[in-house]
Amino acid sequence: MPSLFIADLHLDDSRPRITQLFERYLASTEVRGADALYILGDLVEAWVGDDDDAELPKRIACATHAVREAGVPVYFMAGNRDFLLGEDFAQQAGFELLEDGTVHTLHGRPTLLMHGDVLCTGDVGYQTVRKQVRTPEWKAQILGMSLEARRAFAARSRAESRAHTGSAMETIMDVDAGAVADAMRKADVTRLIHGHTHRPAIHRFELDGATVERIVVGDWYEQGSVLRVDADGVALHGLPLG
Ligand code: MN
Repeated sequence: MPSLFIADLHLDDSRPRITQLFERYLASTEVRGADALYILGDLVEAWVGDDDDAELPKRIACATHAVREAGVPVYFMAGNRDFLLGEDFAQQAGFELLEDGTVHTLHGRPTLLMHGDVLCTGDVGYQTVRKQVRTPEWKAQILGMSLEARRAFAARSRAESRAHTGSAMETIMDVDAGAVADAMRKADVTRLIHGHTHRPAIHRFELDGATVERIVVGDWYEQGSVLRVDADGVALHGLPLG
């Protein structure tokens, strides 16, 4: 049975058809018959805290918890949009939380799992901000604000992110080859799976005399995107909006 990977769904009230596709997919026989479902970050456009009383988090928890109830483990690794997601929601959603950079052995092959943003070392400004906002102090400060203030803050951050992404050069928004090699050497793996860049592809290249793979899971803007990993190998496929 395959292990399934999704990332960068960026679920948001502004794109209801994508949320519906996510719900349909999680109820499908493909997911319910899988070895595991991995969500590699940016499941939502913005996560303001586990105490968010909006409808979307409830729908997500309902969909993922049903997968867990069907006996399929659901692993969640935070991305840059949802790193405030914590233990409370993980429990509601049936998630097993994974640290960025976890190695899981899939069909006998140790595989490094990342969201992917830490590999984009060319974007120095982003990496500086990332370090700041991932500290326990910063998280505590944000989560101490009212829900309303956090929603406003998230909207501002998204606007700033869009402005930054729009002005940054294409190349610095992609992963750095040196950072990829370092991460794979350190984890001692020949396969890396990540999202974040929205450039779905299976890259094969030489590293220290071995042929290795870097697989990028696609985003869910125009359609769904899934990576299937089984004993025969890896395959990316799209999910039509329908
Ligand atoms: Mn991301």
